[in-house]
Amino acid sequence: MNVAVIGTGYVGLVTGACLAEFGVQVTCMDRDEAKIAQLQAGRMPFYEPGLRELVERTARAGRLRFTTRLSEAVDGALVVFIAVGTPPRGDGSAELRYVEEVAQGVAEHLDGYQVIVTKSTVPVGTGARLRAIIAARRRERVEFDVASNPEFLREGAAIEDFLRPNRVVIGATSPQAIAILKDLYRPLYLIETPFVITDIETAELIKYASNAFLATKISFINEMARLCERVGADVHQVALGMGLDNRIGRKFLHPGPGFGGSCLPKDLAALRELARRHGLTLEIAEAVARVNAAQQAWALDKIAAGLDGLARRSVGILGLAYKPNTDDVRDAPAQALVAGLVAGGATVRAYDPEAVAAFARQFPAVIYGKDAYEVARGCDALVLVTEWNEFRSLDLPRLRAAMQGDLLCDLRNVYEPAKARAAGFRYVGVGRA
Ligand code: NAD
Repeated sequence: MNVAVIGTGYVGLVTGACLAEFGVQVTCMDRDEAKIAQLQAGRMPFYEPGLRELVERTARAGRLRFTTRLSEAVDGALVVFIAVGTPPRGDGSAELRYVEEVAQGVAEHLDGYQVIVTKSTVPVGTGARLRAIIAARRRERVEFDVASNPEFLREGAAIEDFLRPNRVVIGATSPQAIAILKDLYRPLYLIETPFVITDIETAELIKYASNAFLATKISFINEMARLCERVGADVHQVALGMGLDNRIGRKFLHPGPGFGGSCLPKDLAALRELARRHGLTLEIAEAVARVNAAQQAWALDKIAAGLDGLARRSVGILGLAYKPNTDDVRDAPAQALVAGLVAGGATVRAYDPEAVAAFARQFPAVIYGKDAYEVARGCDALVLVTEWNEFRSLDLPRLRAAMQGDLLCDLRNVYEPAKARAAGFRYVGVGRA
């Protein structure tokens, strides 16, 4: 089977490489020439653990290639995945321009039956819209189907998530399209991955509902963390006590500086906007977004309170990526925090194992260090924003000695408060008694 993947970003490249690992022939296409040149030269355009090895292996085996030409990717492909970005527009709705551009291009090249599949996260109704676009644009009356196959991978664990997902969702009505996609995902079927086969609209909504629910869990525990501080309780014990109930589950009950990243904030906004357009206010989703904004402001207030104001303070930030094991800084909590610190008159120093280059494009005035110890030098406060493993085992007395001040703001509750205090820090965590 020949497969085309259009859009070679975090989702498209992982999808292409993993499908090639399943044994099919994959052509990944992107309009970004620099990205494709990098990939053709064996270099990864972003950091994702294990991806370079997988791409190298499948490309060497002749099952994965890269192109900037749409025709080269889609000609002869039975399945075309659309994995381009759907960034937020000003009103929160998903920008569908790129997805629609691809659908138009695919239609113009259509010369045999194809299944065109949205892997990008797209609002309900997009599949139907793409079907209409392709039907109107195709040159002859060539048959095709449109399907939805939302992606649930987590950056930082993307390959594992793709090769061993909790479920595969396929939205389609055509038995032929369903059969082809089931065949493509046969290796997952063999390891007993649950398949949810449904209509396109439902598949599209499953993706948004899932992300909104995850965001809800995070905002819920963040609000509990704030309450814990008021009443003298420990949010970790609360999360543990709650999470051991199988109906609740322990995942996504980690308090912190608010959720960020390329998906949760934008998907939550798009879902709220979708509902509004259908005359409905999603009260819970609206509250989740408000709580998240408040949590980000609360993190900044904590630092400002600990320093007695931000003006002329020097603040060191550990971790810029929106989570560990990625270089993705889209909507990262560190962005809001650094912007707030700078607006308050502070000087910011920062380090991240992988995300400095991406972050520096938006914050060139930040002083970037080569490691945590260099960042700590002369700082009034050190703030842990992203819980990379290498930050868990830092030498706290050495960090404290490098600093001018003594505030350690641990926004991920990574450090033992007693140990941090023993190292000479004034320790501030999230929701810890
Ligand atoms: P990304 O920005 O990393 O990649 C998108 C790629 O599409 C870019 O390389 C861009 O150059 C390319 N592109 C845009 N328009 C194009 C066109 N007309 N033709 C060819 N290429 C084009 O984005 P991403 O993080 O991979 O996300 C892609 C989609 O998957 C989004 O809808 C996102 O919501 C969804 N998603 C992302 C994740 C994640 O963790 N990143 C997880 C699940 C779903």
